[in-house]
Amino acid sequence: MSDPGDDLTIGQLLDWAGYPDTHQAATCTDPDCPGCMFCAGGLWGCQVCGGLEGGMPTQCPGRAMTPAEADDVYAGRRDYRLGAWTAVPSVHCPAGRDQTESIYEAWLHAHPSQSDTTRGNP
Ligand SMILES: [Zn+2]
Ligand SMILES: [Zn+2]
Repeated sequence: MSDPGDDLTIGQLLDWAGYPDTHQAATCTDPDCPGCMFCAGGLWGCQVCGGLEGGMPTQCPGRAMTPAEADDVYAGRRDYRLGAWTAVPSVHCPAGRDQTESIYEAWLHAHPSQSDTTRGNP
């Protein structure tokens, strides 16, 4: 996944857009792990809702998703944001990733001085 800006992460953009990331990153807890999808594969997942990468809702529903919910999120039919399930694609799912581009453009409009590098700033 490409970062839209130098220091700006998707998480910061979502924060700015009013959808702070409420997921809790799942990490490997096995010190003798031979290499699982988290510590070797670099997979990004949430230990609360069970979302993984493209199947992650924009915000965490605060409980484990049902398999049907997880399917819907990945397919772009459902998302959890602002405390409710809505019938829009998550910003993380394949069908919804262009939302982060729109948010980035809106961010640039709101921060015109950041559209260039910070070179030359006093
Ligand atoms: Zn592991
Ligand atoms: Zn979550």
